[in-house]
Amino acid sequence: MSEAGMQVCPVCQVKIVKVIGGDRVIFSVGPAGTREILWKKVCQHVQKAGCINKQP
Ligand SMILES: [Zn+2]
Repeated sequence: MSEAGMQVCPVCQVKIVKVIGGDRVIFSVGPAGTREILWKKVCQHVQKAGCINKQP
């Protein structure tokens, strides 16, 4: 897999990979998921500046 389109959230420490049909989120543990799963599992609880997975 290319790492060209990969972002790492400095707050949540997850990797987000740009792919066709929706971004893949790679967690430090467990299976990969979607931004929606990331939001539900991590980002809504963190609520710190710098998170790259802000929900509108
Ligand atoms: Zn985040």
